[in-house]
Amino acid sequence: MGPTATDGPEQPLTRAGARAWALAVAEQRGVAASEVSEVVVDGYADDPDGGFAFRFGPLLLLAGRDGSHSIRIDPGDEAARREVVLQVWERSIRDPAPVPPKHLGPHQRAALAALRLGVRRVAAVPADQRPGVGPAQLPGAEWVLAGLRAFHPLRAPTVPQAVAHLEEAEALRRVPPSDPPLHPCPVCRGLAEWSPEHPRTVCRDCAATARCDHGRLVEGRPTNGPARHLLVLHRDDGSRCDAARERPDRAEVAVAAWPAELVATLTGVVVQASPRPVNAGDDLAMLAAARDLAELLAEVSGLPAPPLPAWTAGPFPDGDADEHLWRLAEHLVEEAATAWCDEHPDDDLEAVRHALAHLMDPALA
Ligand SMILES: [Zn+2]
Ligand SMILES: [Zn+2]
Repeated sequence: MGPTATDGPEQPLTRAGARAWALAVAEQRGVAASEVSEVVVDGYADDPDGGFAFRFGPLLLLAGRDGSHSIRIDPGDEAARREVVLQVWERSIRDPAPVPPKHLGPHQRAALAALRLGVRRVAAVPADQRPGVGPAQLPGAEWVLAGLRAFHPLRAPTVPQAVAHLEEAEALRRVPPSDPPLHPCPVCRGLAEWSPEHPRTVCRDCAATARCDHGRLVEGRPTNGPARHLLVLHRDDGSRCDAARERPDRAEVAVAAWPAELVATLTGVVVQASPRPVNAGDDLAMLAAARDLAELLAEVSGLPAPPLPAWTAGPFPDGDADEHLWRLAEHLVEEAATAWCDEHPDDDLEAVRHALAHLMDPALA
């Protein structure tokens, strides 16, 4: 059996194997084999860190000896094409990557692809570079990515580091939970931990930027003892922050200009963003919030933003703004899931709908 379009070329890589993969991708897209041609860059084919490049139509396909393969948009001229190949080549020398380990499942490989591309969500990895991970598998793949990032609180691990973590952490190699306790960070939309008690928890990156009223970076520590009191410390010199507080278990802070608070919990301290209430009577503010929701769905799912229903143009009916937006979120999820399943009839509509709702807000799923 030859290589399939999604599995990538056979390893160890040969010119014939890379070509067979390029032909399979072309065939899948209805392009004749005669239109597929090799892009020759001096030395690339012979280097142990090199590989082969092919093109057809608007696409440029790269297959590396390190096991990587990618489908890109062809920049259109010989010099720019060469530049793309050189960049990929250079990266495989600098960041010797893992033959994407064959024993890893699609969720883990998709998480590695996100790290390799330097994006913060698996949803941001182009769909053809995460085979086997559609909307229904996305929450699980994001969970693997968050797990890999948790080893390095402030910056993402390199791909080789992540592969090593996968070897250590058996849980991350299993099929991940379908409802992982993650949600989009309310401030930056990165991956943040979620719990029903603290549904507005910000991500680790944002939590590290929390500042007190004095404008200093702070962190919270729970006090010892039965009462859940909170100690607020300035990060620069470890001194105690004496800014006024209304309750002993929480403190107001700012996270990138968002009002937020540190809260002592049973297990530690969370940083949660305060809601920014929208006035249902302000039609423009409601429309902006509606657009924001559609964009959020696109960002967390990697799917196109669904069109807004006509009623979002206002005037909004009286009532609770949150309730209107909740109804809109359900509608957008429905639209996006239906559009996806129309094109992918093998996927289960209910599973896709559930996954999209979970990615937007676990409380919605
Ligand atoms: Zn964040
Ligand atoms: Zn302070």
